Amino acid sequence: MQSLLTVIVTWLSINFGLPPVYEHPRVEFVSAAKMMEVRYGRLPSNRPEGVGAKAVHSAPTEFGHDVHAIYDDLSRTIYLPEGWTGETPAEVSVLVHELVHHLQNVAVLKYDCSEAREKPAYLAQARWLELFGKSLADEFEIDAMTILVRTNCMR
Ligand SMILES: [Zn+2]
Repeated sequence: MQSLLTVIVTWLSINFGLPPVYEHPRVEFVSAAKMMEVRYGRLPSNRPEGVGAKAVHSAPTEFGHDVHAIYDDLSRTIYLPEGWTGETPAEVSVLVHELVHHLQNVAVLKYDCSEAREKPAYLAQARWLELFGKSLADEFEIDAMTILVRTNCMR
């Protein structure tokens, strides 16, 4: 895992100008239930009702019903689903996406809103998939309109 993280960080820095920081995040494999718990329980800004939406340490990562992975800014941890093997381009692309959030976090990069933080993450994930002739639409049913909504400041 460590060498995979190193390769991806190098790739991200070359292709997207992200800071090549090699302080790797912790990576935890969690069940779907635990994933939801982390997403809605520990990350205040992710609560659907907006309860206690003041803490910004943990920006939301993925919106919608299908949570593939989560990055927690505070603990610098990437949560991957149990069963993740990294054997498919799609699985690795999820790690690429979360690793962008890790680099944004450790380098303290500033964005206008949490959605803007998603833009480079989705770009990198899409580019990674392209290397294997795949796309976000094929692998995750994420179309251009969805990406637009998820990556632009609406408020
Ligand atoms: Zn994200």
